[in-house]
Amino acid sequence: MSLDAPQISLTFPDGATRAYARGVTPAQVAEGISKSLAKKAVSAKVNGAHWDLQWPIEQDATIALNTMEDPAGLELIRHDLAHIMARAVQEIWPDVKVTIGPVIEHGWYYDFDRAEPFTPEDLGAIEKKMKEIINRRDPVTTEVWDRERAIRYYEANHEPYKVELIEAIPGDQPIRMYWHGHWQDLCRGPHLAHTGQVPADAFKLMNVAGAYWRGDSNRPMLQRIYGVAFRNREDLKAHLTMLEEAAKRDHRRLGREMELFHFQEEAPGMVFWHPNGWTVYRALEDYMRRRLSAAGYKEIRTPQVVDRKLWEASGHWDKYRENMFITEIDEEHANEKRVNALKPMNCPCHVQVFNQGIKSYRDLPLRLAEFGSCHRYEAHGALHGLMRVRGFTQDDAHIFCTEDQIAEECAKFIGLLSTIYTDTGFAKFDIKLSTRPDVRIGTDAQWDKAEAALEKAILTVRNDFEVDPGEGAFYGPKLDFKLTDAIGREWQCGTFQADFQLPERLGATYVGEDGQKHRPVMLHRAILGSFERFIGILIENYAGRLPFWLAPRQVVVASIVSDADPYVHEVVDRLRASGLRAEADVRNEKINYKVREHSLGKVPVILALGQREVAERTVSLRRLGENDTRTLALEEAAALLAEEAKAPDQR
Ligand SMILES: [Zn+2]
Ligand SMILES: [Zn+2]
Repeated sequence: MSLDAPQISLTFPDGATRAYARGVTPAQVAEGISKSLAKKAVSAKVNGAHWDLQWPIEQDATIALNTMEDPAGLELIRHDLAHIMARAVQEIWPDVKVTIGPVIEHGWYYDFDRAEPFTPEDLGAIEKKMKEIINRRDPVTTEVWDRERAIRYYEANHEPYKVELIEAIPGDQPIRMYWHGHWQDLCRGPHLAHTGQVPADAFKLMNVAGAYWRGDSNRPMLQRIYGVAFRNREDLKAHLTMLEEAAKRDHRRLGREMELFHFQEEAPGMVFWHPNGWTVYRALEDYMRRRLSAAGYKEIRTPQVVDRKLWEASGHWDKYRENMFITEIDEEHANEKRVNALKPMNCPCHVQVFNQGIKSYRDLPLRLAEFGSCHRYEAHGALHGLMRVRGFTQDDAHIFCTEDQIAEECAKFIGLLSTIYTDTGFAKFDIKLSTRPDVRIGTDAQWDKAEAALEKAILTVRNDFEVDPGEGAFYGPKLDFKLTDAIGREWQCGTFQADFQLPERLGATYVGEDGQKHRPVMLHRAILGSFERFIGILIENYAGRLPFWLAPRQVVVASIVSDADPYVHEVVDRLRASGLRAEADVRNEKINYKVREHSLGKVPVILALGQREVAERTVSLRRLGENDTRTLALEEAAALLAEEAKAPDQR
């Protein structure tokens, strides 16, 4: 159908097509289908783009209508609230200048230019005004304006930031204006049809932070107001409860209270592990080593500082350099400056190990594991405790195998990952498969085979998984594993990635049954992601009360009277002989004081020893969070605790 035809053809999700007058809007389309759909529709998807119900459709297209229940519905609520908040601010303080206000996770923000900072009382007043605007059910309207007209409009209204924004919009793009009632903003859209569609009881303004205009420290400092919004009050309440819980569990605070680690300015984003924290780390590392070894992995160790030549060959120098820490060194007796980089990932080094000597098909699959210490540059502002660091250790491994072995290796990996997540307290996790992108290497046959192998492997453990079409890496499809913590937050930790490219780039080969050289496939995989981040997740998941096998101090043996001190040391020695992490507390303090302090330090078991315990060679055992104590013979207690201290793979 040509562009001049008065009619266009729209294709619906069920495959049906219908003819419409050119310029028909999604609102009219919905109206034509049913009154109830017209009422429920909030926006549309036209040729894949998010489309306002008011925008005309000028050509043949695919169309799907969105309702509030679709992800688009929630996005619109948040986006409309950004405008409604800016309008509320200007209704209260007409001199405030508006800038930008995007949708973010859970809500939105909007940046304002105002000399005086917004106070918590101001936020309350803005919220109240927003609810008024919502209850007015003002229509939301839109027009495309001529660029000059829009600039003149904003100049007349003393909105210099909007003028600057328009000047930055490429000449071939339309200048779209939106009105929420009388209040106007520059916006790409789409939006809801009227302000009353936004639930008035399901949003909250959270806080104010400084933010430079365009992120540039030479430009004005603006005030950014953050809000969160949901479809209903229950969802908002659940989110606020989750935030409260998350604050209580903040691993940075618990890390101090439990004396696990610290950070300091001389090494941003790199962890100083203290004895307690390093004990957790090692307990987890030992456990992982045993699991990997039992699963047929061979552990290796490769250098951290590696010449740029290898990074050039691997492609990292070209594609990843801005994230790499570069070091330069003058080689002695050679006037040659060598440029090295701290490894940002282990893969190229693992290929070097594979490439030593001739490999045969009998050597495959070869599973090389490394607790690989990596460094990546992250912006200072992005760093966040153990969750986002510059120096970290991956539980990394690469499996070199044939294309035919991918499915089995992937299934084995998912089984191992599932065991490890269950052991560490994360029985619930999701799997996402990312498939071939438009730009890729490898043949379609290779991709067909690899994608089918990954899918088949997932199906061995579950039926439901998410597919992200086109989101695989250019060198192969991948799986992402997201676990859910105790307060419902999701953390992407595990990954499994097939790679047809790196073995090619770095010349990895094996001799096949036919006596010819072949390229192995390389499978990149990690389960925890990094030890640092995973320990952060563990701390928050358990609110510091780590499972006994991971607790840094498992038992504190405390004296009630000083006469018990020799017995305290004897008990500590006895427990240590059983492999328990036990410490003595013979300070001249009241037992209640000691119990309180060790409870704050999240010590799972406290043994209190007084005259009676000395006389009877018993211990009085108290568990964290319980008030009751239990008297046990020393040997009985040692045996009981030693059993509890076994890691999940040793039980
Ligand atoms: Zn907007
Ligand atoms: Zn890798």
